Amino acid sequence: MFHISDLKKFNRCPHFYFKDLEAEKEVYPRYIRMDEMITSLALEKLGVKEYFLGERNDPYERTKEALEQYEWLVKARFEHEQLRIKVPFLHRVGDAWDLYFLWIGLYPLANDMQFYCDNVWVLEQEGIKLNHIYLIHLNADYVRKETLDLDELFVISECFYNKNHNPSISVKEAIEENYRDLSPLLDRMEHYQHDELGEPVRGARCLGRQRCRFYYDCFPEEKEMPDNSILTLITSQHKYAMLEKGITYLKDADLSLLEGTPQQYAQIMADRNGGLYVDQNALGTWLQQISYPIAFLDFEWDRYAIPPYKGMKPYDVLPFEFSLHVLSENGDVDHKVYLSVHDDRRELAETLCAWLPKEGSIIAYNAFGAEAIRIEELANQFADLKATLLDMNTRMIDLQEPFLNGVVYDTRMRGQWSLKTIMSFMNDKSYQDLDISQGMDAVFEWRLLDSEEVTDEKERIIEGLKAYCGMDTYSMLIVYQWLLDLL
Ligand code: SF4
Repeated sequence: MFHISDLKKFNRCPHFYFKDLEAEKEVYPRYIRMDEMITSLALEKLGVKEYFLGERNDPYERTKEALEQYEWLVKARFEHEQLRIKVPFLHRVGDAWDLYFLWIGLYPLANDMQFYCDNVWVLEQEGIKLNHIYLIHLNADYVRKETLDLDELFVISECFYNKNHNPSISVKEAIEENYRDLSPLLDRMEHYQHDELGEPVRGARCLGRQRCRFYYDCFPEEKEMPDNSILTLITSQHKYAMLEKGITYLKDADLSLLEGTPQQYAQIMADRNGGLYVDQNALGTWLQQISYPIAFLDFEWDRYAIPPYKGMKPYDVLPFEFSLHVLSENGDVDHKVYLSVHDDRRELAETLCAWLPKEGSIIAYNAFGAEAIRIEELANQFADLKATLLDMNTRMIDLQEPFLNGVVYDTRMRGQWSLKTIMSFMNDKSYQDLDISQGMDAVFEWRLLDSEEVTDEKERIIEGLKAYCGMDTYSMLIVYQWLLDLL
């Protein structure tokens, strides 16, 4: 029996499908926090009291009986030609059914048509006559008051949205346009043999926005590549073509095949110089804008699909921790960490205002993609602190800039410029020495703090969170000092 996710994997790459079948199943915690049972909330929105509820290993006969007996079917399992689907909501209206897809986001786009079409294909093959097709999604404009207003929280739409968040094509029309007969694909999957696979061939599907998780299984030689490999070339469309031409190292890059970005120039020059490139003038100018006392700032936060606290919208962020290292002109370093367990946004904002020096630079890593946004959000929530908070953003400087702009490159960065990568060759403390060493791990651990099931671990979690966030600002301090040394 196949599921729609199997079809997607097979379509993407048969190697991926088989490797995934063999791989140990990992349970991935959700990046977006979803404490509420979203199906129950949506049922309230729909006003459904009595319904059939499908379960994981339901025999298909159970669904068939429910079709005779119930007006509403929730999570019912349907099957056709080895393909099994779970349908969020079906509502009998006359002699046909209205279908509701549940989309736990703000503006559903018509970009996952395979999912919608495959569901409709199974239903229609099984003789289910469909009337309307709806999407239930979260309302981007909803602001929570003391309690959740489910009528306001959800939107029921017959349309997808465009990139400007305006309603676009109707769901039914989009499905009709993309509808396809799945029988040939299912037949191919059922009879596909391992020996048809052949050698994996590198393509866009391997390297897309996120590198395929089986990439180094398929191409193990790349794991061993040297720091100055041509494959570390950033934003290069032609690095594999260069490799095939026999160009192994950055210093030998074919200039006619470069996009010509400052980062690529810095990488090639670093390799030609023996491993390091520094644009002294540009670095000097960048460092000149920084003034003492220098505050290194880092936030940790969680994101909630359903707003849990008053004043929050769907998918809003709740900052729960910040770390601050302050470097004075005489070389003294002061370090503080603020950490809360629940919704302490007010206290966090007040503490930030109290602890941050009133003058000097504020440095963060990816400052305008994270810290400046968090500060602006707090400023919009607390009018009396707004001026102080927004003043922080006028003093904000992004420590990534010298790396993003090709001012500094060390071949040990291997085409990356995260704090962890740079710290890995700084001969100093390492993230690997910490109990918590990844940003999302910090979020998952923080979620445990308000869980009643976790009691004796709380002190360990708090210490781990403080150490991790503190390591981020400490690393910024070290990287800043390294840049000074390079000058
Ligand atoms: S790395 Fe490429 S070839 Fe290998 S499984 Fe992933 S997508 Fe398929």
